[in-house]
Amino acid sequence: MKIIVTGGSGLVGQAMQSVCHDSEHTMIFLSSADCNLLEKDQVKQLFENERPDAVIHLAACVGGLFKNMNQKVEMYEKNMLMNHNVLSCCHEYYVKKMVSCLSTCIFPDKTTYPINESMLHDGPPHSSNDAYAYAKRMLEVQSKAYQEQYNDNFICVIPTNIYGEHDNYSLQDAHVIPALIHKCYLAKQKGEPFVVCGTGSPLRQFIYSKDLAKLLMWSLLEYQEKDPIILSVSENDEVSIAQVAYLIAQEYNYEDHMVFDTSYSDGQYKKTADNGKLMRLHPTVSFTNIQTGIHHAVTWFNQNVSSCRK
Ligand code: NAP
Ligand code: GDP
Repeated sequence: MKIIVTGGSGLVGQAMQSVCHDSEHTMIFLSSADCNLLEKDQVKQLFENERPDAVIHLAACVGGLFKNMNQKVEMYEKNMLMNHNVLSCCHEYYVKKMVSCLSTCIFPDKTTYPINESMLHDGPPHSSNDAYAYAKRMLEVQSKAYQEQYNDNFICVIPTNIYGEHDNYSLQDAHVIPALIHKCYLAKQKGEPFVVCGTGSPLRQFIYSKDLAKLLMWSLLEYQEKDPIILSVSENDEVSIAQVAYLIAQEYNYEDHMVFDTSYSDGQYKKTADNGKLMRLHPTVSFTNIQTGIHHAVTWFNQNVSSCRK
């Protein structure tokens, strides 16, 4: 198969590149420089030239809690536009299977736990990331519409928080793990406190990017259902932000300098997701433990600090 991976230069796309390097399929990893997915003409030209059999659609306007709070218009408009352009071309060019990425952060705020796949549209998302969440929910609605009206095999997967090498380490816009790695690195360099935003009490499930990359290939090649599937570690592997911050501080031998700035938002307290469907369909799946994964992410950041996204 010829498989296009949009967002091939990002955190997950880079993990796919490393996991799929000896794939029997022809994989084409795209960045925005190869094709600006906001421009329908460019997307059409891409599909005209490549005629892919399958598409893994990772490209998105992505960020952590503070980017979601501060850039709602971009999070909504860019994601709606990119998703529409890619989905409609997948239909127009007879793509046999399309796998798109949602996120567990788009589930309803007021809900029961654990959250499962059937609960996606059961209530409003948390107000901090509602613009991103609604755009992502519409990706699922649009994929399902193509399934129902045209029998297109366009599915959605729902990963939890992702981390790993090649992340975006922006102090302001990044997700919690890369932001805290960068902050701890700078704090140690300057001999200053390592400041963690919020109380540290919120809970999250984190998946290592290369584990997710393997699961995305499994979703494309093995997963036969049309409904979304949560791609997550178990509920028992949920950790607090304080635990994650501590693991990062340990990497820098800087545990004694960690402080919490409670003037910052905690965001949603938890989003505990049920990975039961994944475990039923893929019982041999295994996950990198968070301590090992954070070690890889910190090591990569230390080696690439001058050139990485930040
Ligand atoms: P990322 O590291 O920020 O990478 C984003 C990718 O999208 C990059 O390859 C970027 O290309 C591409 N992109 C952005 N705007 C584009 C445009 N206008 N045209 C073409 N490409 C464009 O994101 P990620 O963390 O790998 O996320 C991958 C997917 O997982 C996304 O759909 C995201 O919503 C989802 N997800 C992420 C998380 C998480 O914790 N990171 C959690 C759940 C779900 P350039 O490099 O050229 O900018
Ligand atoms: P979320 O999981 O979608 O909410 O997004 P994040 O990956 O941004 O994680 C947000 C959680 O981490 C919130 O509880 C924040 O208060 C906490 N946090 C602590 N320090 C930071 C930081 O430097 N950046 C970010 N993005 N979040 C932080």
